[in-house]
Amino acid sequence: MLDAKVVALLNDQVNKEFFSAYLYLDFSNFYEAKGLAGFANWYKIQAQEERDHAMLFYQYLHNNNCSVTLEAIAKPNVEMKELMDPLKAALAHEEYVTDLIHKIYAAAQEVQDFRTTQFLDWFVKEQGEEETNANNLITKMELFGSDPKGLYMLDNELAARVYAAPSLVL
Ligand code: MG
Repeated sequence: MLDAKVVALLNDQVNKEFFSAYLYLDFSNFYEAKGLAGFANWYKIQAQEERDHAMLFYQYLHNNNCSVTLEAIAKPNVEMKELMDPLKAALAHEEYVTDLIHKIYAAAQEVQDFRTTQFLDWFVKEQGEEETNANNLITKMELFGSDPKGLYMLDNELAARVYAAPSLVL
């Protein structure tokens, strides 16, 4: 049996990951409307990844005989005007998610729930990668985004991203 507090945090993370998917879909939505299909592709795939994360938490709870409560997913709340806005918001959001993952990890560690800390190890690493990707995108946009040719090439680069299922299998 998993600790009740750990279960509550894991259940909450199901919702948080679905919200991330919804947020990134809204970023994709923004770039589609701007005619930047590559940026839109990047965030559509990002949204797919977040849905995968939600399902990993969902499945982990079920695998441990815990019931899951699906709550309402909040409306995406980032105001987007400039092309840079979603990129900066994505970094801030990933830093927030990293903090959430670390808090669950700390709660599991407190009750010596080694199964959950091992499950979360993948997410700790994943969050490092997410923050690196978000930072790199901001850097590229700062360097090349103000030049139409640079923006065109960056959009083409992001168009090449393809979806890959998560390496973590439960
Ligand atoms: Mg995630």
